[in-house]
Amino acid sequence: MSAYETVIGLEVHVHLCTKSKLFCSCPTTFGVEPNTNVCEVCAGMPGVLPVLNQTAVEYATRAGLALNCAINNDSVFARKNYFYPDMPYNYQISQFERPLCEHGHLDIEVGGETKRIGITRIHMETDAGKNIHEGDHSYLDLNRAAVPLIEIVSEPDMRSAEEAVAYLKALHAIVVYLGITDGNMEEGSFRCDANVSIRPKGTVEFGTRTELKNLNSFRHVQKAIEFEVARQQDVLEDGDKVIQETRLFDSVKGVTMSMRDKEEAHDYRYFPDPDLVPVHISEEQLESWKASLPELPAARRRRFMDEWKLPEQDAEIITADRAQADFFEAAVALYSEPRKIANYMTGPMLREINQTGVALKDSALKPEALAELAKIVDGGLISAKIAQDIFSDLYAEGVMPEAYVREKGLVQVSDTSAIDAAVAEVLAENPAEVEAYKGGKTKLVSFFVGQVMRKMRGKANPALVNEALGRLLK
Ligand code: ADP
Ligand code: MG
Ligand code: ZN
Repeated sequence: MSAYETVIGLEVHVHLCTKSKLFCSCPTTFGVEPNTNVCEVCAGMPGVLPVLNQTAVEYATRAGLALNCAINNDSVFARKNYFYPDMPYNYQISQFERPLCEHGHLDIEVGGETKRIGITRIHMETDAGKNIHEGDHSYLDLNRAAVPLIEIVSEPDMRSAEEAVAYLKALHAIVVYLGITDGNMEEGSFRCDANVSIRPKGTVEFGTRTELKNLNSFRHVQKAIEFEVARQQDVLEDGDKVIQETRLFDSVKGVTMSMRDKEEAHDYRYFPDPDLVPVHISEEQLESWKASLPELPAARRRRFMDEWKLPEQDAEIITADRAQADFFEAAVALYSEPRKIANYMTGPMLREINQTGVALKDSALKPEALAELAKIVDGGLISAKIAQDIFSDLYAEGVMPEAYVREKGLVQVSDTSAIDAAVAEVLAENPAEVEAYKGGKTKLVSFFVGQVMRKMRGKANPALVNEALGRLLK
């Protein structure tokens, strides 16, 4: 047991999936030719006037409502000054003293227990552009400059890397459910900085924190925090002090490395942006946004347990991702066997996702195909084994199972004479096992079933194989 307690607070940046940028009509499309989504406004030319994107305000407010925040009817944009080539204005437009949302919370589940994590604030801000370094040249791509972001700042309420990851996953699910972001972590649509400190167990005062950057997957968050906690313990045990600084996570080496002292970067000289009037949201507007919030992951999980009678774990896995939960309900609408549909999703489908790295929404699998698969297994057309075997073809190629098994000759054999013949052959080929079975080793029946299945390439109706074995072993 460690003598220290870990303290973690997270700052999460979420790209809002609006069509245009925060203060101009440039598109927000990702991955296009550099500097094609740029105009005078987002390039920071002198004399231009920013005009606020109303959809961004709506999306940011939705996040605040879903995260139980108080929404400020009037919030104020501020300039956060710093010089960096990818910031053409030399300041970032953000919110400081009066952010859009404050005092929220998010409940997470860790180790079977619910824990409430405070959310300090959510504010709107602009993203930066991108510096590209090639050889001794540097280039600038402003496509991403002034794309709308929200920053969600948590209280330092998390006490382990597991809690931090649980919080992030829950947060990610919520913002994706809200339809305000694509949530793509590799493309930087959902980015996290982790503030980490440790303190002797039982003490109240927080230790000095470091801020970890470059965490672009849940796994990296976990690894970076674990490394950092161990590093800070070593520092304290050597009688040294933790320095407040920003550290970069190196995912290849699995270590965090000092990037810059926080001290130098601290004076942002925030001041209200004189070009932007306060953002006003009327009570009526707020009420209508509140009323139109979609069902959120926690509510959907509960409903999947009540309405579809799914075990908690299945409901949890399926509703963690909105596309998966929608897929499940679409399949159940076509074939009303929710437990069976869920089993395919938490079994072979998750295996496909893990093995191929292709998310369900990017796969070729359609709810129609999964519903049909469950149906033809129930109807006896194919065995459960064949269903497992063809799953990757369904997932990758989008084939429809019934036509596919017929074409491939995978239809289950329920012809008793063919099964009897295969059973007889297996018994003839394994006289020693037959002897042992008759001597009382009845467990060998599964060995015989396996052999018969193998002979019949997985296509034999298992109930009929068992029946035939019972008969022929007498
Ligand atoms: P900054 O603007 O410098 O990043 P903030 O006060 O906004 O500073 O804090 C940023 C994050 O750091 C918040 O999520 C907060 O919960 C977290 N935090 C603050 N103090 C600590 C600490 N001692 N240990 C861990 N996290 C902390
Ligand atoms: Mg910070
Ligand atoms: Zn623009």
